[in-house]
Amino acid sequence: MDELISQIADCLINSKNAVALTGAGISTESGIPDFRSPGGLWTRVDPGEFSIDRFLQNPARFWRLHLRLKESGDFDLASAKPNPAHFALARMEQMGILKCVITQNVDNLHQKAGSVDVVEFHGNLLRAVCLKCRALEPIAQAEARLSNGQEEPPRCQACGGLLKPDAVFFGEAIPSRALMISQVQCEKCDVLLVVGTSLQVFPAAQIPITVKLKFPPATVVEVNREPSAMHERITDHLVLGSAGEVLSRLSDCLEKKKTCTAC
Ligand SMILES: [Zn+2]
Repeated sequence: MDELISQIADCLINSKNAVALTGAGISTESGIPDFRSPGGLWTRVDPGEFSIDRFLQNPARFWRLHLRLKESGDFDLASAKPNPAHFALARMEQMGILKCVITQNVDNLHQKAGSVDVVEFHGNLLRAVCLKCRALEPIAQAEARLSNGQEEPPRCQACGGLLKPDAVFFGEAIPSRALMISQVQCEKCDVLLVVGTSLQVFPAAQIPITVKLKFPPATVVEVNREPSAMHERITDHLVLGSAGEVLSRLSDCLEKKKTCTAC
């Protein structure tokens, strides 16, 4: 594997616009099971509860469910900690190699690890958004008002509008800003690092296809425990293993190579 890691490191060092696309697999090592895997959220809660239609029909019911999940400790994203894979991507950004992380995760762990340029394709479950004025607030504040029984469902502090967790619910569109930035990043991207995603959820799964179809095509590096659904079509370098281990080795290798070039 060392030779492959070294080859990928060279590829990244020679890149001008390396971008990472991450999915649930990067956060499983932080104790957040993939929603769709055994033990994941969808095995305990009907995914329909997270549809925008059902939310709007009865927001108070949704927020009660949200609080129950949080209090059960089964779904406490706020106390989850970034793992070596998140830290390695943040280090790559600090080295000036990685320009941006596009994540399908809603857990805020890239930001906690120190990544600055993060595009949240599916929003962020640590924030609440006002459906009327789009003001954001930490979800913990909305939860506190809810658990104090002050109001139900929680309302925007600024305008009294209805608050919703700022993650993309089923039936909702991808936030237009995230979509636009990802498109710009795809146009510039020359190396795409795909980490912890099976590439089955569109439109995020369109990103590697887009970077492969343009001219010249980007080099796609895939780090996954199991090969993604489209690895045969899009992946140039496939590394199978734990994201934490592989990315730590990759960022160590990059640090060594960068130091060497400098001296
Ligand atoms: Zn508001």
